[in-house]
Amino acid sequence: MPSAAKLSADLRHRAAQLGFDLVGITSADPLEGAEFYARWMAHGYAGEMHYLERNSDKRADPRQLVPGARSVICVGMHYDPTEDDVDALQGRVASYALGDDYHELIKSRLAQLWQSLQDWTRPEQPKGRYFVDTAPVLERELAARAGLGWWGKNTCLISSKRGSYFLLGEIVSSLELQPDSPATDQCGSCTRCLDACPTDAFPEPYLLDARRCISYLTIELKGAIPHELRSEMGNWVFGCDICQNVCPWNHQPTAAREPSLAARPTLADRSLEGLARLNVEEFRKLFRRNPVKRPKRRGFLRNVAVALGNSGRAEAIPALVELLEHEEEPLVRAHAAWALGQLGGSQATVTLQRALVAETDPEVLGEIEAALVPAGH
Ligand code: SF4
Ligand code: SF4
Repeated sequence: MPSAAKLSADLRHRAAQLGFDLVGITSADPLEGAEFYARWMAHGYAGEMHYLERNSDKRADPRQLVPGARSVICVGMHYDPTEDDVDALQGRVASYALGDDYHELIKSRLAQLWQSLQDWTRPEQPKGRYFVDTAPVLERELAARAGLGWWGKNTCLISSKRGSYFLLGEIVSSLELQPDSPATDQCGSCTRCLDACPTDAFPEPYLLDARRCISYLTIELKGAIPHELRSEMGNWVFGCDICQNVCPWNHQPTAAREPSLAARPTLADRSLEGLARLNVEEFRKLFRRNPVKRPKRRGFLRNVAVALGNSGRAEAIPALVELLEHEEEPLVRAHAAWALGQLGGSQATVTLQRALVAETDPEVLGEIEAALVPAGH
């Protein structure tokens, strides 16, 4: 059995070969951040993400995931940030979601890394499991303790080498390895992320109220988006990168090495009008093996309707008319009604009046009535 130092050095080398840009090691001791996380949940900041409440004991203690665990190997894979300047009639998508779904990619690389560790330690049979966002693991806390980066005021993990545009994965194992030191917080007096957030989602530095975050609203939230936040969401239709884009540690991004994480050419044109007209089959095809399918078509078209309403452009009206008059999902019709009310004008008003007679769903009717009330009344 190689020494912990030799194994740790070989593991770093192998991780780099497998395309991981960052690698760090920490012990499998319980996490101090678990208490903070429990308070965050108790405060309601997680919104409807009730799945986060399950398995809190496992979240707090990696040894609950792998009995006898001694170490956690944390890895990061860099992806490219996308353009900042996007026309109001184009939908904006968080950079990580423009390529292929990263789960399979990172999982297969972690499987290879774990296989190497097993090969090097024969005839020992270390226990281990690997995870990518798939188990109750406080992965950011583990990665921070493993020195991959510090927990920034925007609650992203920030590396002084790589900024924050990277994806995480981890291997929990019974192997004894050499742990790294946690990274030092280098946010200093900067407040750019807090100042730039359009929905005021940070009640204080280092604390996110997910219920106000565009990522939560466009991906996790199943129902109606709160009225007071809709007009602050701009043209984001899946996720949001603003508090990362403004971070000075992301100003000189290194190019991603993994081609499958690069933006798909099929997602280069994200015309909101085109997205609003995706039928079930087209939606499935466009977002196959891509994260954007997560909110399903109804949630996604809800987001597109809000973005059209925020565009301030008359060209957005025909697509919204179609959504209000022909879309089967009441959730989408309701947001299309709101969006038409935002844009105003005679075509929007006539459509809303017509829908007021034809519509039967009480929620949609409520949105239509509200949309017909002139602003300021
Ligand atoms: Fe605010 Fe966007 Fe960051 Fe969410 S992702 S906290 S909405 S800037
Ligand atoms: Fe920290 Fe400034 Fe980056 Fe926010 S923008 S995470 S305060 S360095």
